[in-house]
Amino acid sequence: MHRLIAISLATLCACLPGSSLPALAQDGAHQVAPPPSCVNNKGVTVSFESVEAGRQGLAAGMARRDGEGRPVVMRANYAAAPEAFQKFIDRHECAHHQTGDVDMPHPPRNGPEHLMNEAVADCIAMLRLRDEEGFGQEGLKQVSEALAADMKGIGFPEISVSSRLRNIESCFSRDGTAAQLIAARLKERGLQ
Ligand SMILES: [Zn+2]
Repeated sequence: MHRLIAISLATLCACLPGSSLPALAQDGAHQVAPPPSCVNNKGVTVSFESVEAGRQGLAAGMARRDGEGRPVVMRANYAAAPEAFQKFIDRHECAHHQTGDVDMPHPPRNGPEHLMNEAVADCIAMLRLRDEEGFGQEGLKQVSEALAADMKGIGFPEISVSSRLRNIESCFSRDGTAAQLIAARLKERGLQ
């Protein structure tokens, strides 16, 4: 069995614990998906790096700039997550670079602005999975189930889980593309 970390705890949320693990969790070893293409809002290519850090057995991602200012997505313990969920994490983290979240002051944790950033990143991820990876209802189900199991395991209240899943589902069936959503978000922020 595998345990996954909720995306809302990842990324910007800077929640990879400081302690590092000696190795990836051995249980539930999945194939690790190749990273997607990702370019930030300034036209710089984002690189994906695997790190052996994070809670034991929990897959997590984090979007940030490295010591030299290069945009990166850190991937932790990906082998612990089903491939569909790994792909979701990658695109969610990429979205934080695409929308400019990474370079903006971090909003108060779990405040409305933070939750909006997370909802938009989830939405962009789902549109990319639908339009670029050919995800259908089965893929949506896999992502939703992994996310729900994960969030519940960490102790999120039911209402947080269900509202996040509703957002993901409605994004999956919405008109328009990820690129359009990103453009709208950047415009709203005066970044485009
Ligand atoms: Zn996020």
